[in-house]
Amino acid sequence: MSTNECAHLRAVRSVRHPSRRECEECVKIGSDWVHLRTCQECGTTRCCDESPNRHATRHARESGHPVIASGEPDERWLYCYPDDGFREY
Ligand SMILES: [Zn+2]
Ligand SMILES: [Zn+2]
Ligand SMILES: [Zn+2]
Repeated sequence: MSTNECAHLRAVRSVRHPSRRECEECVKIGSDWVHLRTCQECGTTRCCDESPNRHATRHARESGHPVIASGEPDERWLYCYPDDGFREY
């Protein structure tokens, strides 16, 4: 994947990781998820767009928090919603 780094991504100094390996919204409603994404603004963890509920994207839209990191242990990347920005770390 190529790097498309915006100001939001450059502003991330230390990447925030999931405090629990679960989507906090799916846990409440008893749903399943595919991958986890952690919001770099508030540190909460939600599910990816391949998951039925797409909670990470919904959170970004509702809160205006732009950047997520993958919450998967073998993935090291950040994504910015408004700029469609991507960078590995
Ligand atoms: Zn950005
Ligand atoms: Zn979810
Ligand atoms: Zn957030």
